[in-house]
Amino acid sequence: AAKGSGKNTWRFHEASLQVTAYENMMLKRDLREAIERGELSLQYQPLVDAQSGCVVSFEALLRWTSSEHGSVPPSRFIPLAEESDTIRKIGKWVIEEACRFARKLSAMGKGEIRVSVNVSPRQLVAGDFVAIVCKAIDRAGIKPNQLEIEITENALIDSLEDSNDKFRELRAIGVGLSLDDFGTGYSSLTYLRSLPVETLKIDKSFIDLIVSDEAQLQFISSIVDMAHVLRLAVVAEGVETKEQLEKLVKCQCDFIQGYLFSHPLPEKEAILYLDRLIAEGTRGGANWPRS
Ligand code: C2E
Ligand code: MG
Ligand code: MG
Ligand code: MG
Repeated sequence: AAKGSGKNTWRFHEASLQVTAYENMMLKRDLREAIERGELSLQYQPLVDAQSGCVVSFEALLRWTSSEHGSVPPSRFIPLAEESDTIRKIGKWVIEEACRFARKLSAMGKGEIRVSVNVSPRQLVAGDFVAIVCKAIDRAGIKPNQLEIEITENALIDSLEDSNDKFRELRAIGVGLSLDDFGTGYSSLTYLRSLPVETLKIDKSFIDLIVSDEAQLQFISSIVDMAHVLRLAVVAEGVETKEQLEKLVKCQCDFIQGYLFSHPLPEKEAILYLDRLIAEGTRGGANWPRS
C-alpha cells in the first residue's frame, strides 16, 4: 500500500492476502481430486516446420475445469501442484494421456507426429520418473521417439547430475528432450553443452521483440546460429504475426509455435487441424509465407 493512504489500505491488503491464502488452500485441496473427478484435460498446440510448413509435433498443455472454481489457468494451478506431490500424480497422468494421443495419431495414419509434455522439477527428481515414462510408452504402444519431454532451465539447477543421468537414459531409448522458455533462466553455455537436449525453445518474450528492433533480430539470429553449432534445433515460441514468422524463417529458425498457426486445441480439433493442413497440401495454410 502507498504511504499516507492510511491504515485502512493496510487492512485491506492484509485481508486480500488472507483471501489469496485461503483460495490457494482450496485450489490445492480440489486439485488433488481433479483427476478422479475427470476435470483435467489436455489441449494440443501444433509445432510447424519452418521450411516445409508441416506439423511436426504437438505440445500437450494441461487444462483444469473445476466444478468449484471454473476454468483455472496452468499459471495459477501448476505452481500450487508443485508445492506438493500432487504434481507427480498429475504429471504421470499427463504423460500417459499424451502417449495415448500419440498412439491415436499413428493409428489414424497421421504420420510420425510427436507429442511433447511439460515436466516439473519435482517429477524429475522422483526415483520412478524414468520408469513412469517407459511404462507409459509401452502401454500406449508408441515408439519412444514419439514422446518428447520439455524442461525449463531452472528445473535442473538443483539436481543437474541426477537429472542428466535420467535424460541420458531416456535419450538412449529415443525419447526427445527440449529446453523450454530458453533465455529466461540461468543456464550457462557450459551447462547447455552438458545437457543431452535436442531442441531449444526460445521464449516468447524474445520473439515479441523481433520485429521492433534490428538488434533484437540479430540477437535471435545469433542464438539460432549458436544452437546449430551445438547441433540443437530451435523452436520459436509464441509466434503471433506473419511478420515475426518471416523474420524467423530468415534467421533459419527450425520450428514455429504460436497463435499465428493455432491456439492449443482439444484433441478432436487438433486432429481436424492436421487433416485440414494435409488436405490443403500447402501445409502451413494461408499463414505460410512461401506457399
Ligand atoms: P509453456 O510450456 O512455455 O507453454 C507455452 C504457453 O504459451 C502455453 O500457455 C500456450 O498456450 C502459450 N502460447 C502458445 N502460443 C502462444 C502465442 O502465440 N501467444 C501467446 N500469448 N501465448 C501462446 P499455457 O497453456 O497457459 O501454459 C502455461 C505454462 O504452464 C506452460 O508454458 C508450462 O510451463 C505450464 N504447463 C502447462 N501444462 C503443463 C503440464 O502438463 N505440466 C507442467 N509441469 N506444466 C505445464
Ligand atoms: Mg512447454
Ligand atoms: Mg515454453
Ligand atoms: Mg514459455
